Amino acid sequence: MPANSKEFKSALTVNKGISQPPVVNDESVINYKSKSRKKLSVEEYAEGIFSQNRTILSQAITLIESSLPKHFEIAQQIIVKCLPHTGKTIRIGITGVPGVGKSTFIEVLGNLLTSKGHKLAVLAIDPSSERSGGSILGDKTRMEKLANHPNAFIRPSPTAGSLGGVARKTRETIYLCEAAGFDVIFIETVGVGQSEIAVHSMVDFFLLLMLAGAGDELQGIKRGIMEMADAIAITKSDGNNIVKANRAKAEYQNALHLFPPSESGWIPKVLTCSAQYNLGIDEIWQTISDFIETTKSNGQFHSHRVEQAKYWMHQSIRENLSDNFYKNHSVKLKLSSIEKDVLAGKVSSFEAARSLLCYYFEKIKT
Ligand code: GDP
Repeated sequence: MPANSKEFKSALTVNKGISQPPVVNDESVINYKSKSRKKLSVEEYAEGIFSQNRTILSQAITLIESSLPKHFEIAQQIIVKCLPHTGKTIRIGITGVPGVGKSTFIEVLGNLLTSKGHKLAVLAIDPSSERSGGSILGDKTRMEKLANHPNAFIRPSPTAGSLGGVARKTRETIYLCEAAGFDVIFIETVGVGQSEIAVHSMVDFFLLLMLAGAGDELQGIKRGIMEMADAIAITKSDGNNIVKANRAKAEYQNALHLFPPSESGWIPKVLTCSAQYNLGIDEIWQTISDFIETTKSNGQFHSHRVEQAKYWMHQSIRENLSDNFYKNHSVKLKLSSIEKDVLAGKVSSFEAARSLLCYYFEKIKT
């Protein structure tokens, strides 16, 4: 159903989706189009990425995002070449509901980082973007200065696929960006549930942006998301909102005390900020820097990354197995009749799944 249809209702369409090109940086779109006829070898892609050629970086990311098997193959080979050049970065997840001020915040924090000499890549995870007619994340119009900064690279979410697929592609894109010399990576996502878990599993620091509400501050916030946060920033703490924001800060601080202490030895912080008036942004960066220092010195930074690598290996196994199963021709032929039997109550779901899996394992043996 098209995004502009009146019946289209999704929590993710609070802000109208904005159609976007696959790449935000104009220069790379133009170059990509004009050079798209020339096929590069895996070595040429890798060399281009190492030499920080953002056109080639963008093309390689497009291969990661492609659903064509031949693109997948090349992309995997490029990733293998990039892997030894990855990891020496800070990966930061930034989440919050539409309208909380993510783009404005990223624009201001991003510009602070580039002014400190950092090279920043902003990626987005938004599995809804295909339905909403374009990603509302990584939005160029709301990050104008950053989008044009030579040391920043903004890439909206891939516009196709399941959350699992989008998450894998984003994780692979992180590797490419790191190999291209970006030393801080932001992963932006809309705070609606599942995507935070995916983001949390690929970042070192997880920042939750929250609005100071009028009523019960804790209403509507999923405990799980708050528990994942290394810091909560109350946005739009300016003008008449300052009092409310400070009250919210105290309430969230109390709420966080109720959670068990995290393994990292880090006590989550609650801060207030105003991206519009550039208030509290330095403090947020200082908090992130303190976190990195603390977790690097107690070994948690490294062990967290190792755990994440293990998690992604299992994710990858699960996804590949499931893909292989559903794409199997014989399974496809049998699936619809078994589904009918389940719907008609002739066989239980578990029995149906078991017999289909047995059938699949027999088939792949032959
Ligand atoms: P996103 O949907 O989370 O990316 O939110 P945006 O960054 O697009 O911001 C949503 C609205 O909040 C916009 O109208 C912004 O101008 C406004 N906004 C963002 N940051 C601030 C802030 O620090 N103070 C105030 N007063 N408004 C803000």
